Amino acid sequence: MAKIFCVANQKGGVGKTTTTVNLAAGLAKLDQRVLLVDLDPQGNATMGAGVNKAKLELSVYQVLLGMADVKSAVVRSESGKFDILPANRELAGAEVEMVELENRDKRLRLALDEVGADYDFILVDCPPALSMLTLNGLCAANGVIIPMQCEYYALEGLSDLANTIKKVSANLNPDLKIVGLLRVMFDPRMTLSQQVSDQLEQHFGDKVFKTVIPRNVRLAEAPSYGIPGVVFDPSSKGAQAYVAFGAEMVERIKTLDKK
Ligand code: ADP
Ligand code: MG
Repeated sequence: MAKIFCVANQKGGVGKTTTTVNLAAGLAKLDQRVLLVDLDPQGNATMGAGVNKAKLELSVYQVLLGMADVKSAVVRSESGKFDILPANRELAGAEVEMVELENRDKRLRLALDEVGADYDFILVDCPPALSMLTLNGLCAANGVIIPMQCEYYALEGLSDLANTIKKVSANLNPDLKIVGLLRVMFDPRMTLSQQVSDQLEQHFGDKVFKTVIPRNVRLAEAPSYGIPGVVFDPSSKGAQAYVAFGAEMVERIKTLDKK
């Protein structure tokens, strides 16, 4: 059965989508079967995977509202070699419309049950808010991956996210845990980056992933071509880091249930 991971952080612009798309492509390179779920109405992961969000017949929106099943809404990212349950701005409406429905926080989980046997990893790209959509992601997941920039304000907001995860785990999804904090957009020339990175390791120990994702312009350029950075320029430092992160995740899931 697939292990399901949310990539979450209520801050915008911290590297959630870049991480989701490149981890998906990195895992695919390691012969893992991957489904990426785009839960952000901005549809950035959808576009970054090379799928035109303006031309979707079905999307995660219809799936959440019970108008389509996952299999009929999934499309293939030819560039990334993974499947994607895409999103576009229509999804913003689901936030309000789901409130009326039963199992409003478990709708993604229930929908994904159907395809759990088809994948090794299901990765959910969350929107930058602790919203009903993010809650659906957290209720569906075995674990949360939290991308963080090593900057002064990085830890601010982390406690809100950690509290939300604790509440979801206590009340809605006992499976849920923080798998790890991922240092992204790391710049070794900045003393502050190094200091914050050291602090993270001191406070969170093995909850900090060993892999560090460097700031790398090729990762930022890739989405405009609809190609994951990992595929766009495989020899770049950013691409190599995300493939290494994929390998670290493959190892992590072996011990996930024991913790
Ligand atoms: P989020 O999904 O959290 O809003 P994104 O993944 O969209 O964040 O990243 C925000 C911006 O930073 C994007 O323009 C993206 O291309 C860029 N970016 C993300 N990670 C890196 C990186 N490691 N190196 C350089 N640019 C990056
Ligand atoms: Mg995003």
